[in-house]
Amino acid sequence: MYKCSLERMKDKIATFSQFGDAGHGGITRYSLSPAALQARNEFERRMTAIGATIEVDDVGCMYATINGSDPSLKRIVMGSHVDSVKNGGNYDGILGVMSAMEVLETVVEQNIPHKHPLTAMIWTNEEGSLYPPAMMCSGIICYDYLPEDIRGKFKFEDMMKSKSILDNKSTFGEALEKSGYKGDKKYRISPDNYKCMFETHIEQGPILEDAGNDIGVVDCVLGMFNYRVRFYGQTVHAGTFPMPKRRDAFYAASLALCYIHEEIDKLGISDLVYTTGEVVCHPCVHTCVPDFFDFSIDARHEKPEVLEKVLAIVKSCAEKEWNGCRCEVEKAWNRDTVYWDKELVSYVKEAAEEIGVSHQYIHSGAGHDAQFCAYMIPTTMIFVQSKDGLSHCEPEFSYPEHCTSGATVMLNAVLKADKVD
Ligand SMILES: [Zn+2]
Repeated sequence: MYKCSLERMKDKIATFSQFGDAGHGGITRYSLSPAALQARNEFERRMTAIGATIEVDDVGCMYATINGSDPSLKRIVMGSHVDSVKNGGNYDGILGVMSAMEVLETVVEQNIPHKHPLTAMIWTNEEGSLYPPAMMCSGIICYDYLPEDIRGKFKFEDMMKSKSILDNKSTFGEALEKSGYKGDKKYRISPDNYKCMFETHIEQGPILEDAGNDIGVVDCVLGMFNYRVRFYGQTVHAGTFPMPKRRDAFYAASLALCYIHEEIDKLGISDLVYTTGEVVCHPCVHTCVPDFFDFSIDARHEKPEVLEKVLAIVKSCAEKEWNGCRCEVEKAWNRDTVYWDKELVSYVKEAAEEIGVSHQYIHSGAGHDAQFCAYMIPTTMIFVQSKDGLSHCEPEFSYPEHCTSGATVMLNAVLKADKVD
């Protein structure tokens, strides 16, 4: 049983929280921004200090590797991302990178015997918050292994042309060239040189805290669908047109959204989550009755049969007229539940038991680079409790003790994977 260092973890958290510090407790660290380059430099500095070899692939993913006793074996990799959303917190993504570094530092400091080379990794542009889409570079790297309907979104050439949401002009490809982190394609993580992958991440929800558990043994990423529901009415003047004659698309959408909630809630599925987070209103002027309204509906659950029932309710909206408005329902995209490698999950569970850290099985409701990686090589995740379940916001917090426990669980799970050739 080996343990990671709480003091060293605290030092890393304090250091990395400075890169992109927005001045009120959180960070804005877009991929390949000056703040993200600072984080990459610090990663390189700390990993070089323990004798790791640094490699960078053609989409800027960084790999720091220490040798094992058998150079003929494939690498075991741990990693996550250093980029954040706008006004994000100090833990999403970066905790997985700090944990991977902590595992390597512990292995070197305590001279822990291991056969496989061990790699700490930074995935480029996970959030996609400056250059969409999210999980861009794991999508590119795992391209050949992804299901066909997902793969279409991640063509290398298309991704290089992804435009900045800030100026709608500069591209991801330009940012990559300018960053100095455009390396060589031969260094990409692949099944030829990598045995398996672990990603430690904050939970981003309240389940572990509510249950009083520090660590989540993650078994899958939930399946989901993302649909658009659109309403077509007629714009008229807000001051001159009588209420009974109006075909207000916004009001129609609000009726349909309430209907969707009521019908889905009647299904009584306690662990289902569904969200309307994005809307478009036209002409969106206070003197006009809207003639067009469009909202997203995102639903997530492990079981496809549950998602089918929810989708039937969403689709049924198109069969009705809402406040005199026509309704259309269109699929944006969906994905099936991605299950982690059973062996790796069992190593994580055993490691948590042996260490004596409180833990439970948990699903991931959020997408992560690990989910694309899982199509390519055996992969799993470890969750660390999130205080108040908050994430993608500045108050996001995880106790350093829990962060260190997460790294310790990963270290011991990696050592179990190391014993199997
Ligand atoms: Zn993340």
